[in-house]
Amino acid sequence: MMQLSDPSLLRAQAYVGGAWVDADSGATFPVSNPADASLIGAVPDMGAAETARAIAAANAAWPAWRAKTAKDRANILRKWYDLILANADDLAVLMTTEQGKPLAEARGEVVYGANFLEWFAEEAKRVYGDTIPAHGADKRILVLKEPIGVVAAITPWNFPIAMITRKCAPALAVGCPVVVKPAEDTPLSALALAVLAERAGVPAGIFNVVTARHGAAIGGELTGNPLVRKLSFTGSTQVGKLLMKQCADTVKKVSLELGGNAPFIVFDDADLDAAVQGALASKYRNAGQTCVCANRLLVQEGVYDAFTAKLAAAVAAFKVGPGLGGDSQQGPLINQNAVEKVERLIGDAVAKGAKVVLGGKRHALGHGFFEPTILTEVTPDMDVARQEIFGPVAPLFKFKTEAEAVRMANDTEFGLAAYFYARDIARVWRVAEQLEYGIVGINEGIISTEVAPFGGVKESGIGREGSKYGTDDFVEIKYLCLGGI
Ligand code: ADP
Repeated sequence: MMQLSDPSLLRAQAYVGGAWVDADSGATFPVSNPADASLIGAVPDMGAAETARAIAAANAAWPAWRAKTAKDRANILRKWYDLILANADDLAVLMTTEQGKPLAEARGEVVYGANFLEWFAEEAKRVYGDTIPAHGADKRILVLKEPIGVVAAITPWNFPIAMITRKCAPALAVGCPVVVKPAEDTPLSALALAVLAERAGVPAGIFNVVTARHGAAIGGELTGNPLVRKLSFTGSTQVGKLLMKQCADTVKKVSLELGGNAPFIVFDDADLDAAVQGALASKYRNAGQTCVCANRLLVQEGVYDAFTAKLAAAVAAFKVGPGLGGDSQQGPLINQNAVEKVERLIGDAVAKGAKVVLGGKRHALGHGFFEPTILTEVTPDMDVARQEIFGPVAPLFKFKTEAEAVRMANDTEFGLAAYFYARDIARVWRVAEQLEYGIVGINEGIISTEVAPFGGVKESGIGREGSKYGTDDFVEIKYLCLGGI
């Protein structure tokens, strides 16, 4: 059983217009623990009608929220930040129980997630406009930045708190209300955030959470309702494309953080030990279930065997087990679909000639657990080369030249994160500039922070989250032309 020091953080209702509510039908759906399939709770199975009400509540609350000074909004967000940190242990336990990641990682995410509130509370005080030298002596030109309006946020299960705060903090900070639809696997973390938002004094209607077993009905309303002016989505490329199409009819602004196929390149001049550490962090964090996880390890032929041996030794020492177990480094995958996908990708690779150096199958612990896996002799014709693995599998490709590595790295429709390890400074510049990615980690395997712009190019997405650029997606630019002077 899950032990929370504040049991009121565990909710069974959604949060709409400042009230805790059930689905109109009274229907609920269960939330379970991926480590042992036990039931943790149940939340409302809502649809379009409840979502329309949440949007109306958000729109009604908007004028008072946007009329506040940035400082007043920042003070409320700062309280929310403080409450999240004060409840970090409970939030981490709740997250690990519904999501599976090791408790230390969950706690790290709680802090990372809270940081977006702190950052954007500060940043929104500096959403400056402009004055522009006019095109006529009798005119003056001004540029205002105004909150865009009701924001819809649809979020994934791999970062149940941080993906919500990364979208909502900038939206709220610049004066927009938000309706969030969290992933069906991890709604409890989202509802716990709502409890703390309420306690922090976020006004009724400004932060709403609607839950559903299947996202389509809520998604249809969020993308179809003309009151929603902006959709921010993190999830699969397939669903992102669908939502973007749905937003076309009402011409909503969209931000999309979609799939990745991150290359992790190890050149022959790399510090191999650092590269192994980077690969461990980038590949196996969250059991490989992040959109910036290394998906293809490209290793230059001269260091291929040495890198493989060092990586295998490090991964073989991994402790796999339930996230609440204390010293577990890798928890279960989110659900059985995820386990089956990883199994299928390994089967395809092996059938086409890949070798299993380590792992390769379901873990003896059962449920969502999978052995940390390393594959060698992987080639571009295998599915692991093209699809996002989202599991603890490191496929190692061999390359000969720098040009070949760059060509292989860019040979994908995705362009979120890329990593490479090299010491030659000219090579570092050359490769960094040639990689068609939104984020490049150079001699670094962990790139996520609230202070830097996160986002992809090509089919990995649109827009940037975090950093000073993160407010841009939630404001409209208004140009005032004052004549007759
Ligand atoms: P993943 O493969 O990571 O689960 P998804 O894109 O399926 O990625 O899910 C990301 C989020 O999108 C989740 O909150 C999910 O419920 C939601 N979602 C999935 N399908 C739809 C849809 N048709 N409309 C709106 N939201 C959806």
